[in-house]
Amino acid sequence: MKQVQNSKMKYTESQAYLAGGVASSLRSAMKPTPLFAAGGSGPRIRDVDGNEFIDYLLGYGPLILGHAHETTASRVYEAMQRGITFGLQHEGEIALARRLTEILPCADKVALSGSGTEAVMLALRLARAHTGKRKVVRFHGHYHGWSDTIFTSFPSSDMRRSDAAAGAVEDKVSVPGTGGQSERALEEVILLPWNDAAVLEAALREHKDDIAAVISEPVMCNSGCVLPKPGYLERMQELTQELGIVMILDEVITGFRLGLSGAHGRFGLKPDLITIGKALGGGIAISAVAGRQEIMALIENGTVSHLGTLNGNGVATAAALATIAELSQEEGAAFARMETNASKLVEGIRSLLAKHAIAGLINHIGPVFHMMFTQEPKVDDFASFMKRDAAKYTEFSGYMLEEGVLVRSNGLWYISAAHGAQEIEETLAAVDQALARL
Ligand code: PLP
Repeated sequence: MKQVQNSKMKYTESQAYLAGGVASSLRSAMKPTPLFAAGGSGPRIRDVDGNEFIDYLLGYGPLILGHAHETTASRVYEAMQRGITFGLQHEGEIALARRLTEILPCADKVALSGSGTEAVMLALRLARAHTGKRKVVRFHGHYHGWSDTIFTSFPSSDMRRSDAAAGAVEDKVSVPGTGGQSERALEEVILLPWNDAAVLEAALREHKDDIAAVISEPVMCNSGCVLPKPGYLERMQELTQELGIVMILDEVITGFRLGLSGAHGRFGLKPDLITIGKALGGGIAISAVAGRQEIMALIENGTVSHLGTLNGNGVATAAALATIAELSQEEGAAFARMETNASKLVEGIRSLLAKHAIAGLINHIGPVFHMMFTQEPKVDDFASFMKRDAAKYTEFSGYMLEEGVLVRSNGLWYISAAHGAQEIEETLAAVDQALARL
């Protein structure tokens, strides 16, 4: 049993001053207590009790290069010495925007913001302004940030609010995901099951005169890392083009994780808009909307307001440029390394599930995967994802922590470019022990 006394004490102390004791609601779910970090280096993180863990939480995704990456940290430090933020334009913004338009196939222009939530807000606003329509199609099990007009609930077991709030799969009506959210904020949202082209086509044709946008994660990373069925996103692209609807791919997770050009580049898609965040800044707050000139022009001509005091600040642009530069080295060798290591890990865990005769499966793409305990032969939509044994996985994640491996309690694993053969080997030994205890 790991000692987490100091974390427990700090949590109590924190609760006296910080609402809920954590800075983002999701973090309070960690058992036996929310851990307090002392620092991190590469693929490893240390807590205030002196425990060290191999880290697959990776700050909920952004740490694509691992903790305290040296080059990124020194670029950020240099930027801070020049001045943290200016409220004026600066070279870093141009350099980053130019680089993003070079590497993202859908990007004629980009707009910079601070978080994934803000990028989604801007993308939806652009879509409404572009089409003159109001409704937005979103999907069960996807997450697009916590703004009132799109937050229906968080579908993971590591959120205190229950999965039930995600609604029955047949529901087309969104349920507010939090107290204090007006039901009316979701009046414009049409909620559909994902990965069913026929359902999508029927809804889009029926409501085409009202629908401004379809927003979708390209891979359902927030609920089971479910891959799109062959042709599904292509059909979404055809239908939205035909019906005058803006297609937004929310690449806040997949951007800079499934390759430099994101999921849309990997899958050969050309959505109208994408949102990126998380890995873009390697851990510093920055996000972006990228897309088609005709739509981005609405910002240029003043139709759409895009605001934010710290948008494009020097520290954030330096972090993003350094992260992209690192990921671009040796023709993307970092991605190849992450994919190889993730595949080894996934194959290893699958073998261990078989060894322990535990029913489970892993959905996997590149350096992200979702491990589930389930009797289902496959998880390829939100309905099958909801049949997993979430409580059993939470128990497993607790055992992993005791074995020195930090994994998110909902089953989603991220791997960084800093993870190597040593970490994979240690992790598989930990999985072996943890599965034996289940
Ligand atoms: N979109 C997706 C797909 C996400 O996974 C997230 C966060 O997890 C967001 C948007 C919101 O991003 P942020 O937490 O930076 O506001």
